[in-house]
Amino acid sequence: MDQTTDTFQIEDTNYASFANKTKISIEKGQGIYVYDEKGQRYIDFTSGWGVTSIGHANPVITQALVEQSRKIIQNPNSGATYSPARSKLISLMQEKILPGNLTRIFFANSGAEANDAAIKLARKATGKLNIISTEKSFHGRTISTVSATGQNKHRDKFNPLIPHHLFVPFNDIEAVRQVITQDVAAVIVEPIQGEGGINVPDDDYLEKLSYLCHENDVLLIVDEIQTGFCRTGSMFASDEVKIDILTMAKGIAGGFPFAAFAMSEDVHDNLEVGDHGGTYCGNPLGCAVAYAVIKYMLDNKICENVENLGQFVFAELKELKKEYHNLIKDIRGKGLLIAIEMADEDITSSLNSKCFDNGLLLNVTQGNVIRMFPDLNISKEEMEEGLDIFKNSLIELSE
Ligand code: PLP
Repeated sequence: MDQTTDTFQIEDTNYASFANKTKISIEKGQGIYVYDEKGQRYIDFTSGWGVTSIGHANPVITQALVEQSRKIIQNPNSGATYSPARSKLISLMQEKILPGNLTRIFFANSGAEANDAAIKLARKATGKLNIISTEKSFHGRTISTVSATGQNKHRDKFNPLIPHHLFVPFNDIEAVRQVITQDVAAVIVEPIQGEGGINVPDDDYLEKLSYLCHENDVLLIVDEIQTGFCRTGSMFASDEVKIDILTMAKGIAGGFPFAAFAMSEDVHDNLEVGDHGGTYCGNPLGCAVAYAVIKYMLDNKICENVENLGQFVFAELKELKKEYHNLIKDIRGKGLLIAIEMADEDITSSLNSKCFDNGLLLNVTQGNVIRMFPDLNISKEEMEEGLDIFKNSLIELSE
């Protein structure tokens, strides 16, 4: 039995089977490339689910991990003592990337945890219960975040969920207006729905939503877990909009499990000692890595790279759609968060398999949406290399 067979067998037998797995066992990565146990190379256009924002095995991450782990990984009494690694990250975020009104930051270990905290604290800060979210949204897999997720497939099996969650269609301001009563604590929304199929709202949707929330004394929580950290070409997709709580994860630490939320002073004024915390929240190791990743993004103008390459990719894909309009239904997204909606689920699955055979790893969501979300420091040549595999696989499929 070779090593790979062993890996498959052990995971298939003793690891909880929550995922439909691809038969590939990844041993290492370098930039956009990953290598299986036999040394076979693949291009990773999933960036580990939108996470390896500055590429696999980026030396700045290794350096931060090594240097910080030689100093300290976990503080005595965790968040009840101060940490220079933490304060350095807070200053960088405050000075360089966060909107000016979001003056209070806290850290978490995953996106769901950041959203969970945002919902919990919004209720505490406002003294109100109802949370509005959107249909087809995805906010995580904890019991509170599935309660806020607008897709039955993630919710139905886990009843009873947390009550007081209301759902409205995405990109529909009038629908929010109908339910935004005095009992509403917050609206939670993704600027572009990710797992729900990369659904892009009208340009002024978030701004109108912000206005409506503030007119009604309701907090606006923007979930930038998938869209943040240059993914759509700006540091945050909601950059221009006044929001009250911003949740962040995925790209923030390039693959190290880390997350954050930032809130306004007004929200924070209504919270107190003991309202939130967690053993690993703001641990120095995660903070050092997030600092290194964000600094790399700023120093290397990663948002500009995404903006430029995004335009290039969308132009290429739209040409492809013209030629293969019987197979491709829609191309949408922003920056390097790209959806290729296929005609049906069978075509999607066949194309995904062909791409895999040809060395390109993609993600499928909602059955017929191919999600391409590569590392954000990818070069044009690397992007072309991946796109060529995609095109050739499509040609093979249509033959
Ligand atoms: N919110 C959004 C928009 C996401 O895309 C995700 C994950 O895909 C989450 C929340 C949950 O994040 P995590 O998987 O880190 O808990």
